[in-house]
Amino acid sequence: MVTARWKSPVVVAWCDGCAKSVVMATPDEAALLARLTTRAVFRLIEAGLVHYAESREGSVRICLDSLPVR
Ligand SMILES: [Zn+2]
Repeated sequence: MVTARWKSPVVVAWCDGCAKSVVMATPDEAALLARLTTRAVFRLIEAGLVHYAESREGSVRICLDSLPVR
């Protein structure tokens, strides 16, 4: 039996904010994609400006649909 884990930096996962399955990335990867620093991404999370999901291991994935990508 395979246990689903978020090993890849980019995964497709359910987003509560979007109410659909979206592409989610690690904060590092999301920062690269949005041309932000990882710290800026965490600020967006704390401000509630981006959707995110937390895995059981406590790692965070950012909803790329909610990320301010320009
Ligand atoms: Zn979302």
